[in-house]
Amino acid sequence: MSLKKTLSIIKPDAIKSKYHGKIVDFLENKGFKILAHKKLKLSKPQAEAFYEIHKERPFYNDLVDFMISGEVVVQVLEAENAVLYYREVMGDTNPEKAGNDTLRKLYGRNIQCNAVHGSDSDDNASKEISFFFNKLELIN
Ligand code: ADP
Ligand code: MG
Repeated sequence: MSLKKTLSIIKPDAIKSKYHGKIVDFLENKGFKILAHKKLKLSKPQAEAFYEIHKERPFYNDLVDFMISGEVVVQVLEAENAVLYYREVMGDTNPEKAGNDTLRKLYGRNIQCNAVHGSDSDDNASKEISFFFNKLELIN
């Protein structure tokens, strides 16, 4: 068994819709252990830096504006093959294409306001976790 970590963000649309508690329940029911959890509001430079890899994509500016439009909750989740498993639990980027019983199907509104973020590789998970949390903040 190889426990791994991934970074999750509950995005502003889901926090505004008061889905925070439901999403935490869903994650625990799916077997994730929450190693760290905090609410914050991203500044523009922080959101730009976090999504730097998407800088050239047409939706980048709108994505940054959306991510700073309200509070977010960032979490470190642990599970076996956490990155891949969380991507399954989130569902497709576009909630309309997401499978039943996925977070984005249940709580996402559209391809931009899709309730949650999850890392896309182990390397990026490490980078994204250190972006938000220091060692002292992580249960080990
Ligand atoms: P994912 O979050 O599923 O890994 P991406 O990394 O491709 O998806 O995109 C990052 C985020 O940018 C998405 O979660 C979504 O909020 C937003 N996004 C992606 N594609 C589009 C699009 N075509 N139009 C608007 N926003 C988008
Ligand atoms: Mg991505």
